[in-house]
Amino acid sequence: LGGISGRAETRAPNIVLILADDLGFGDLGCYGSKIPTPNLNRVAAEGAQFQHFYAGSPVCTPSRAALLTGRYPERCGLSRVLFPEDTVGLASTETTVPKMLKKQGYRTMCAGKWHLGSRPQFMPNAQGFDRFFGIPYSHDMWPLPLLSDGEVVEANAKLDTLTQRYTEQAIDFISAPADAPFFLYFAHSAPHVPLATSQRFRKKSKLGRYGDVVQELDWSVGEVMRTIAERGLDDNTLVIFTSDNGPWYQGNTGVLRGRKGETYEGGVRVPCVARFPGRIPAGTQPRGVGSFLDVMPTLARLAGTTAPRSDGIDIWPLMAGEASEIERDLLLYFDGINLQCARMGRWKLHVSRYNSFAWAPGPPGGRMNLPLPLPELYDLESDPEESSDVAEDNPEIVTQIRARMEEMLLTFPENVITAWRDTMRIPVEATESGALPVRKI
Ligand code: MG
Repeated sequence: LGGISGRAETRAPNIVLILADDLGFGDLGCYGSKIPTPNLNRVAAEGAQFQHFYAGSPVCTPSRAALLTGRYPERCGLSRVLFPEDTVGLASTETTVPKMLKKQGYRTMCAGKWHLGSRPQFMPNAQGFDRFFGIPYSHDMWPLPLLSDGEVVEANAKLDTLTQRYTEQAIDFISAPADAPFFLYFAHSAPHVPLATSQRFRKKSKLGRYGDVVQELDWSVGEVMRTIAERGLDDNTLVIFTSDNGPWYQGNTGVLRGRKGETYEGGVRVPCVARFPGRIPAGTQPRGVGSFLDVMPTLARLAGTTAPRSDGIDIWPLMAGEASEIERDLLLYFDGINLQCARMGRWKLHVSRYNSFAWAPGPPGGRMNLPLPLPELYDLESDPEESSDVAEDNPEIVTQIRARMEEMLLTFPENVITAWRDTMRIPVEATESGALPVRKI
């Protein structure tokens, strides 16, 4: 630790956290895609490329809540996608990454899509960001104002040039003369639908509009990297790039099963590359598990502070190639308020699942979370496709994960516990002893 933490204390690094929207695990060149992404490939080659990194949820809003608070979004009451008519949002009582960093003297900006509440008290300027330029929610929602802090720049944001304009504003922020370190949270709208690019990227990829959009996203990353280098900030800037959930209508999960809106790996395992010259060795390939929950504690360490009440852990040793594994508690996978799966080391246990696809109209009676007839256990090291259930061969692993899931669940709000009880058909009286019973399998 010595040298590294010593340096972190004396010189807080600039932090750039870039988030794609609905970009799949297999959608970057460095993860096997045919789409040319030279800038992101370079970030990966010069830094760390995770193979087991998880978004906070299989959908946008909760995933972003996890990223910016370091807590399971079900604890923050943000377990579902928010719509323009919603009057709720990220509570002011939550500590966010920008609030934490501002206390450490950082200047802060959010560029791009917010999606954590569109009423003024929930918007970025009220959550620790000095500067905001972007849209309040997804660009398939209506009305869609483009905002600069509290000002409406366009009543109906023109989609073709969104990536370009976000990028210009982000670059202005990085380039501003200031002594303070900066935190840029750059949350792209791409490649979420509707797919739109500026003129110069139209038909450029020869891989359809999705490929064009991903190429423009990669261009934007290149512009940010170039600006950092030109400002002489390369050796004191951490750049992290990831995605908020798996791909939706188009996009590629690699070998992973499932898509956006599902707790199969394809819905939640996302690309994550991180570059910090001199601190993260080039070509680092962490094998250990990382998560959006870990971003806040990890950035806290780099900024010389500690994250309050996080569900995540500091994964800097993984990111910097100092450790191949870090011991951690179960990683829980929720869909809405429903706890559906948990990961422990190489193992992932599924216990419940929706009866329909996330975005399909439900059958009569609606979309329901149903218990699996028997829990399914997958070995993600040998079976990343989640294709071979090995629960029968590993009953002790199933029991262990299942028991820990229920212990952890008791720390969650009442609605989450109730949803579990309803799904698993556990009678109310059974919980009054203070512990949820383990259902016999
Ligand atoms: Mg998304």
